[in-house]
Amino acid sequence: MLEKKTLICIICPVGCQIEVCRDDDNIRSISGYGCKRGKEYAISELLNPVRTITSTVTVRCGEHQVVPVKTDKPIPKHLITELMREINKCSIQAPVRMGDIVLQNVLNTGANIIATGNIPVLQQE
Ligand code: SF4
Repeated sequence: MLEKKTLICIICPVGCQIEVCRDDDNIRSISGYGCKRGKEYAISELLNPVRTITSTVTVRCGEHQVVPVKTDKPIPKHLITELMREINKCSIQAPVRMGDIVLQNVLNTGANIIATGNIPVLQQE
């Protein structure tokens, strides 16, 4: 059975409306994309949707109580809820430097959770 789907491309601010027609096994046609990256996005979104995830992790003994983190590569969309549970269970000791790995190979995806900010140790007066 043929299924038609409309996607808004999120790769750049233009936001092309991409029409995809597929059957159970194959993508039959793609139209409406403004460039090759959009076509690749639409194919990935239908066959294996992925996302880069951003969040925060608790920091112990730091000048701030949390540090922003993100995946260092996109992960399958269906794992986002489980990934957020792993991130929420996690805490890290200050000092934290941008690029530090907070969780390695999270959920066996090959992606790491990395810090995207610097948190120095809290100085006691
Ligand atoms: S298809 Fe290309 S031009 Fe259109 S929104 Fe996606 S990246 Fe931008």
